[in-house]
Amino acid sequence: MIDAQLTPEQIAIQEMAHEFAINEIRPIAMELDHASDPADAVYMPRLLRNMDEVGLRTMSIPEEYGGGGIDDLFTHCLVAEELAWGDRAVVGALLSSNKITRLLTAEALATKEQRDKWLTAYCEDPDFLITQAMTEANSGSENLLPYDGVDGGFQTTAVRDGDEYVINGAKRFVSNTGWAKLNFVYVRTDKSKGINEGVTLLMVPIDAPGLSFGRVHDKMGYRLNLNREMFFNDCRVPVENRLGPENYGISNINSHLRAGDGLINAAGMIGLARAAY
Ligand SMILES: Cc1cc2nc3c(=O)[nH]c(=O)nc-3n(C[C@H](O)[C@H](O)[C@H](O)COP(=O)(O)OP(=O)(O)OC[C@H]3O[C@@H](n4cnc5c(N)ncnc54)[C@H](O)[C@@H]3O)c2cc1C
Repeated sequence: MIDAQLTPEQIAIQEMAHEFAINEIRPIAMELDHASDPADAVYMPRLLRNMDEVGLRTMSIPEEYGGGGIDDLFTHCLVAEELAWGDRAVVGALLSSNKITRLLTAEALATKEQRDKWLTAYCEDPDFLITQAMTEANSGSENLLPYDGVDGGFQTTAVRDGDEYVINGAKRFVSNTGWAKLNFVYVRTDKSKGINEGVTLLMVPIDAPGLSFGRVHDKMGYRLNLNREMFFNDCRVPVENRLGPENYGISNINSHLRAGDGLINAAGMIGLARAAY
C-alpha cells in the first residue's frame, strides 16, 4: 500500500512551485505561446533564470555540487504538476536537472572526474541545460521498443579515431537543442548489432567542432519547449566524454534514468489537465 501523505518538505516545495507558476509562468506564458516564430516562443532565458533563482533549475543535483539535493521521484512529480499548471513546457528544466543527475551519479556510467566537472558546471551557470538526444527522422518510438534488429532505431554513428570519437548523423525534435551547453548523444558504435548492444552514450558540448543546429520545430501547443534539428558532420569529442563502456546499449544506459522521465512527464500532464478544466 502506498502512503500518499505528503511530508512538510514536499508540501513546502509543492507550494513554492505553485507560487512560481502563478507569479512567473502564467503572466508571460500565453504571450510566448502565441509568438509567430517558434524560436521566440521558448521559455529560456527569462523563465529559466527565474527558475534558477528559486532553486528549481538545479533541484535534483546533489548538494555537494550546489544543487537542491532532492533525489525523491515523487517530489519531482509534485513539482512537475505545479509547473505544468503554469505551462507544460517549463517542466523541461526539471527533466534536464533530473537526467544529468541520474546519468552522472550512476557509478556504471560516469567517473568521478566526469561527475565533478559537469555537475559543477551545471550548477554554476544559470543558463545551463542538457539534451538527451535519441530521436532521428526515421526513429522515434522504435528507439524504445523491444525490437533489436540492426535496421531499427537511430542511425547516427561514432567511429573511434585515436583519442577521439568522430560522430556523423542528425537528430531532431530533441528538447533544449541549441540552447543546452551539453548534449547526451546516443550513437551507434557497432552497426552489426541492434541498439541494445551496439550503442554508446557520448557527451557533446555545444561548441564541439562539427556540431551545428538547424530549424526550430514548430508545434501545436507545448511551444515554450525548444525542439530543434541537430547535425553532426565529422563532429569530434574526446574519448573521455564517453559515459560507460563502448557498446553499453540503450537499455543499459536508460536503466539509470529510473523511469523518472515517464513519471515526471505524466505528472506534468496532470498539471496541464488541471489548468484546462
Ligand atoms: C515536445 C517534444 C519533446 C521531445 N523531446 C525529445 C528529447 O528530449 N529527446 C529525444 O530524443 N526525443 C524527443 N522528442 C521526440 C519523441 O521522443 C518522439 O516524437 C517520440 O519518440 C515519437 O516518435 P515519432 O515522433 O518519430 O513518432 P513515430 O514513432 O513515427 O510514431 C507515430 C505514431 O505511430 C505510433 N506507433 C509507432 N510505432 C508503433 C508500433 N510499433 N505499433 C503501434 N503504433 C506505433 C505511435 O504511437 C504514434 O502514434 C520530443 C518530441 C516532442 C513532441
